[in-house]
Amino acid sequence: MTDGPTYGFDTLQIHAGARPDPATGARQTPIYQTTAYVFRDAEHAAALFNLQEVGYIYSRLTNPTIAVLQERVATLEGGVGAVACSSGHAAQIMALFPLMQPGMNVVVSTRLYGGTVTQFSQTIKRFGWEAKFVDFDDMDAVKAAIDDNTRALFCESVANPGGYITDLRAAADVADGAGIPLIVDNTSATPYLCRPIEHGATLVVHSLTKYLTGNGTVTGGIVVDSGKFDWSASDKFPSLSEPEPAYHGLRFAETFGPLAFTFHGIAIGLRDLGMTLNPQAAHYTLMGIETLSLRMERHVENAEKIAAWLEGHDAIDYVTYAGLPSSPYYARKSEICPKGAGALFTIALKGGYESCVKFVDSLEVFSHVANLGDTRSLVIHSASTTHRQLTPEQQEAAGAAPNVVRLSIGIEDAEDLMHDLDQALKAAS
Ligand SMILES: *Cc1c(COP(=O)(O)O)cnc(C)c1O
Repeated sequence: MTDGPTYGFDTLQIHAGARPDPATGARQTPIYQTTAYVFRDAEHAAALFNLQEVGYIYSRLTNPTIAVLQERVATLEGGVGAVACSSGHAAQIMALFPLMQPGMNVVVSTRLYGGTVTQFSQTIKRFGWEAKFVDFDDMDAVKAAIDDNTRALFCESVANPGGYITDLRAAADVADGAGIPLIVDNTSATPYLCRPIEHGATLVVHSLTKYLTGNGTVTGGIVVDSGKFDWSASDKFPSLSEPEPAYHGLRFAETFGPLAFTFHGIAIGLRDLGMTLNPQAAHYTLMGIETLSLRMERHVENAEKIAAWLEGHDAIDYVTYAGLPSSPYYARKSEICPKGAGALFTIALKGGYESCVKFVDSLEVFSHVANLGDTRSLVIHSASTTHRQLTPEQQEAAGAAPNVVRLSIGIEDAEDLMHDLDQALKAAS
């Protein structure tokens, strides 16, 4: 299929990046389970190693199955290229790696996936990087946190787990003003519900583990590049704008233009950090993406129905879901993700911590797991699990207070899910 701007999302989620296998005509994308690729001759090998010719060398860097996945997700997000990697957390490091140096910082939202808060507040310090946590509802505070060493803004479009939606346009304007990229984690929304690049994002990161694969079979991640950032406009991004010693002084921005970030991600990031996705996982993710829009529609339909019902339930204190008219983020939803606010939200139980634990243990259709974005409905008590490493202040800011339970609404019958929630709420109160 020749990619054209006229194709709709449902067509692209099945076809983008794929063509019948040139060797066999196989209609489905083959799983190229190979480590290496035979060079035509020594000259071909040299050209590949010098990045003078694009092709396959070794599967730590590139693989045909993974290439289809990269093009598919880049197309769905409206980007020019993408780098797949071994997990969502790997994608975050892969996004920051070309931008950062020791002593540099990134200004990040307080409302992030718990694991990301830990990665940013603790682990990246070992690289000499720093994350400054700011409330992204206060753009003046975001602006004030940016200094000469800031190299990016980072936020989630629809933030996990609190039902919070970021004003991406406002964040992009602040990033533009400071001459730095905006990185958006679009895991909870998926490109079907939100396309951050259209709102000004430079880079989009995903955990493929969640809705893109969609059924809890894969751990993977991806970074999508909008191709719109001029890395040479300042001296802030020498990895992309200055000569690269590992490639005989090649300048990525000059040589690859809008694809500079993508080429750097593969030629330096995957080559040297080695956070590579495997072809089998890419295959499962491609299978998942073929039905993304259908699943997301049902996820949203179920979530809207169930959130509205829970809001009126005796045992519930409040529900944070941006798809509810009562949500302070309902207006922003119409702008950022008009097709729906996803299927992830939190409920606060009147009974507090003890009641939450009992509720989670009493559910039968919902599974108690540290995951989200599965066809199956999932539940977790964040304060005692995913957000356990955070301080009480961080838990509160992340929407994971002790009386709060996170639900990831699946695509089962909504009536069955409500019945299950109702019996567990009764057992817990
Ligand atoms: C799960 C998740 C991640 C981390 O992804 P992994 O694939 O588990 O490494 C990052 N951001 C968000 C929003 C997530 O839900």
